[in-house]
Amino acid sequence: MRITKVEAFHVDWGRSRSAWVRVWSDAGEYGLGEASPMAHGNASLEIVASAFTPLLLGANPLDHRVLQDRLFHHHIKLGPEGAFAGALAAVDIALWDLKGKLLQQPIYQLLGGAWRTEMPFYASIGGNAARSVDAVCRAVEEWMPLGPAQVKIRFDGDKTARDEDLAGDIAKARAVRALVGDGFPLAFDANNRYSVQGAIRVGRALEELGYVWFEEPVLHYHTDSFAKVAAALDIAVAAGEQEYTLQGVRRLIDAGVAVVQPDIVKTGGFTGLSDMAALARAHGVDLVPHQTQPTVGHTANLHFVAALTHSHYPCEYNDRSGAQNAVLASAPVLPVGGKFVLTEAPGLGLVVDEAALRSRAVVWRE
Ligand code: CA
Repeated sequence: MRITKVEAFHVDWGRSRSAWVRVWSDAGEYGLGEASPMAHGNASLEIVASAFTPLLLGANPLDHRVLQDRLFHHHIKLGPEGAFAGALAAVDIALWDLKGKLLQQPIYQLLGGAWRTEMPFYASIGGNAARSVDAVCRAVEEWMPLGPAQVKIRFDGDKTARDEDLAGDIAKARAVRALVGDGFPLAFDANNRYSVQGAIRVGRALEELGYVWFEEPVLHYHTDSFAKVAAALDIAVAAGEQEYTLQGVRRLIDAGVAVVQPDIVKTGGFTGLSDMAALARAHGVDLVPHQTQPTVGHTANLHFVAALTHSHYPCEYNDRSGAQNAVLASAPVLPVGGKFVLTEAPGLGLVVDEAALRSRAVVWRE
């Protein structure tokens, strides 16, 4: 069995683009993968097209781990982080989807079996730095009818405007606690906007309010600052969506981060994330993947979490528009009764509507 073609393309949604990859085998099947879409995923698509495709053509598509290591080390000077890791992820997810189709098994089965196929989610609600306290509450209220098992308020905002409104941020956290009531799981995502001292002040308020985790309080590359914040607080400090390598996740764990959040479309797909899950388990740390891509990335993440040993938190879900289902012929990727349900369909279980995809696909390079 061998790889006969690799397609790297955008899918144009109007206001945004996804970076998707299809890997074809001589059996006439393809696997679908996705890279992180930063700047439309342009850099990842170029790496797939110019650097990875020549090494993939003719290779055995079932050799996902051998291929990932070969691609990684052959072109390591293009990375090893950022868009390079996204390109590795897209290829790996596509190879797992293809493997599932060839073996007629869902990916979670190939990963060792599902602990769960009905997956609760947490509402990941962004843009709260710019909202008033009332508007934050209205944004949370809009999500509650979907039945999230947890809510995370993300602040986004300007990463260079440090400690801009600590009192305001705490007021928003307090208002959301009052809105959902005591006991409902809440998480707080600072999106890297605090100093160590500011983070400790906000973190103490979050402890009092019973939040379950405090995400990215300081700039992601300041590992020492994470260590100081984690040492000063009892609340679980979370981070990892901006880590791309096994070694990067290890540095966060060493700093005392208790919830690591690598992302399947950024960190080497199933193969990369599986290594990180083993690392987290060895250290008694929770791995709760970051994931904000609503179809391919989201579904890949669901398969991964279905097979994840010792998973204690719901899956991230942040785009309830359902817009990306427009290119699928299979059932839409949407929660039902507060859960995403995985079927026994092979691979990711996604079936592309070829005509609909053709109408939105923009080939990166012929
Ligand atoms: Ca985040």
